Amino acid sequence: MENFIDQLNDAQKAPVLHKDGPLMVIAGAGSGKTRVLTYRIAHLMAQGVDSFNILALTFTNKAAREMKKRIAEIVGSSEAKNLWMGTFHSVFAKLLRFDGDKLGFPSNYTIYDTQDSQRLISAIIKEMGLDKDIYKYKQVQNRISSYKNSLITVKAYFNNPELVEADAMAKRPRMGDIYQNYVDRCFKAGAMDFDDLLLRTNELLNRFPEVLMKYQDRFRYILVDEYQDTNHSQYLIVKALADRYHNICVVGDDAQSIYSFRGANISNILNFQRDYENVGMYRLEQNYRSTKNIVNAANSIIAKNKNQLEKVVWTANDEGALIKIHRSTTDAEEGRYVAGSIWEHRMQEQLPNGNFAVLYRTNSQSRAIEDALRKRDIPYRIYGGLSFYQRKEIKDVLSYLRLVINPKDEEALKRVINFPGRGIGQTTVDKLVVAANHYGRSIFEVIENLDKINLKINSGTKNKLRDFATMIQSFQIMNEGVDAFVLAEHVAKKTGILLEFKKDGTPEGIARMENIEELLNGIKDFVEGQKELADATGNISEFLEDVALATDLDKDTGDDDRVALMTIHLAKGLEFPYVYIVGMEEDLFPSAMSMNTRSELEEERRLFYVALTRAEKQAYLTYTQNRYRWGKLIDAEPSRFLEEIDEQYVENLTPIDNASYRYKPLVDSDIFGEVDKSKLRQVKPKQGTPPSIGKPNENQLRKLRKLKPQLAQPVGNTNVIDPSLAEGTVVNHTRFGRGKVLKIEGIGNDKKAEIQFEQGNVKKLLLRFAKLEVV
Ligand code: ATP
Ligand code: MG
Repeated sequence: MENFIDQLNDAQKAPVLHKDGPLMVIAGAGSGKTRVLTYRIAHLMAQGVDSFNILALTFTNKAAREMKKRIAEIVGSSEAKNLWMGTFHSVFAKLLRFDGDKLGFPSNYTIYDTQDSQRLISAIIKEMGLDKDIYKYKQVQNRISSYKNSLITVKAYFNNPELVEADAMAKRPRMGDIYQNYVDRCFKAGAMDFDDLLLRTNELLNRFPEVLMKYQDRFRYILVDEYQDTNHSQYLIVKALADRYHNICVVGDDAQSIYSFRGANISNILNFQRDYENVGMYRLEQNYRSTKNIVNAANSIIAKNKNQLEKVVWTANDEGALIKIHRSTTDAEEGRYVAGSIWEHRMQEQLPNGNFAVLYRTNSQSRAIEDALRKRDIPYRIYGGLSFYQRKEIKDVLSYLRLVINPKDEEALKRVINFPGRGIGQTTVDKLVVAANHYGRSIFEVIENLDKINLKINSGTKNKLRDFATMIQSFQIMNEGVDAFVLAEHVAKKTGILLEFKKDGTPEGIARMENIEELLNGIKDFVEGQKELADATGNISEFLEDVALATDLDKDTGDDDRVALMTIHLAKGLEFPYVYIVGMEEDLFPSAMSMNTRSELEEERRLFYVALTRAEKQAYLTYTQNRYRWGKLIDAEPSRFLEEIDEQYVENLTPIDNASYRYKPLVDSDIFGEVDKSKLRQVKPKQGTPPSIGKPNENQLRKLRKLKPQLAQPVGNTNVIDPSLAEGTVVNHTRFGRGKVLKIEGIGNDKKAEIQFEQGNVKKLLLRFAKLEVV
């Protein structure tokens, strides 16, 4: 496309066409910052900049994928595939795979998720004999995380009397020792936590000038979206990488800085001009996303913040509907109002579900909304919360796979050494941990050397330990020659995990087994996807990395149509025609935890600004007079933010809106919703919903299935279409399209079909999983 620059207004064209050197775009919500970033990359490529020399950092991996797609459309080539694009974490995790060995990490290092970190910290607190009520593992983890994000290493910690004293004052004098222990244990396990991905990248670039130069040279053009929310660690990485060519383009909005609780530092924006010479400064003012009412209302709110850069945002869009404020008596009723309103809009305007989003301050608020949506049969998807990959059975399987890649991985090993039960008790594990700490080796190495060290473990148990190690080694050998799916399926069977849940026989056991099946389906899908990429193989390490860094926003393929439920924090950068902001109450939004200082309150107000500016056509703000919190019904007061909106842009609906009563409740417990919340929570899923543990699970499950019910078959079920397949049969595949069966081989679960697809490629598919339809 030649004239793609004409799809921008003049203010947007300027930063896109800006020649080399540093530039910054500061502009309000919906004014096209992300669009500018995307078009600038396309323009650079059109000018002949090699796509290998461009690095773009985005807020989610999904955003990166969409940007790539758009760029490919604009420049009309597959070159976009070579762009390094993604979140800070995913980009630098990749860099550490290449060069982390200089810091003593294996290239197959494990990424510990929050749960792994917390388990390790708990274990350390216990081993050190500390009081777990004083050393609360979550708090300890938060402390460690904030040290890391401020680049305070263990050594720096001990050299800083203020920090040491602060922890002593908080009655946690051993904080530094826990920190030390934690860092050592992660290192020994060949593992990094999320914060390490940034901390270690900094360390790498600092200590190894030749590595720094390599990447400075490679990333000649660096672009960062949502720059207002970068933390110090991220800031330093970008600064180091851009130090040679100074071709750095950042876009952001100080009014949307909402992550200071995680160490994001708004001064990064304010100091940009000090950090670089001859900065091109650009402002965008025209909002293309929202109606006049929404833009003006949002402006009236943010104007209340003292601390902000001056900015104008206007729109040429229609005036649109007023912002509607709705009060209800309870949170159950609030849920019903939202569901009713979505239902009404959907009917009247024939809109897909994906046009609606419900945003809340905290995850726990989703429950009442979910209940109401379910009763109306409105499909929804929750983002955030406990992800599929964090379920017990999924983590069990993944832990085995992690051990295959990195047998030093201590958290994975502790998790599965006796699951399924093989007679290795906790006492034995404790002895192994002590020995491992003593010798400075991993637990796995201790097991491999049982003969050489004197451990008080009886010979029967020693044999069990050896069998365990042999099993893992056999997986490692197998892994040399097979893709992630083949290995994972083998592991799920061979370790006895699948059997364990099958034997269990309870609905929970069956649901867990099905979840593992879903995992395998997911891996299969992943492997197929990787085949398209030039530099990927589809092996298990690639899959594990994908899982470790994926948020469920990333997994959203947008191919099934659901209402989106998420916290406001997650909604940053997104847009939806209809947005419901629920729980507009004091102590909830603004949060009770954030009202101690002006700056905390201002951050809550920015959060409200972010929420409101997600809406394109219409925004609803709802609050209730009573809300269950911590198991108690409390009186709630309307949020101060409601009063802060200039009243000419809002419409207060009648206190008790008719919509709540217009639709008959569908089940008895609905009526009791106001008085007995626990009843509401027991509402059974509607008929036809397969058994599952916990309702959100089912929802996430469906997401993985991508609404293809035949994929949910437990192991052993043959595919329905299997008998009718023969050579010559014409089939349809969801990904590869139409094709003809060339050959059938194997029997039972191993039955495969070789298919010649019309797109030109021949593929061998495992029938049990293949998404085939006979045409
Ligand atoms: P946020 O602050 O929420 O991240 P943003 O500044 O990044 O917003 P974009 O998401 O880039 O804004 O743009 C908002 C919407 O306006 C998008 O749907 C985008 O495609 C559209 N848009 C931006 N500029 C133009 C334009 N010149 N012509 C048409 N549509 C535009
Ligand atoms: Mg944006």
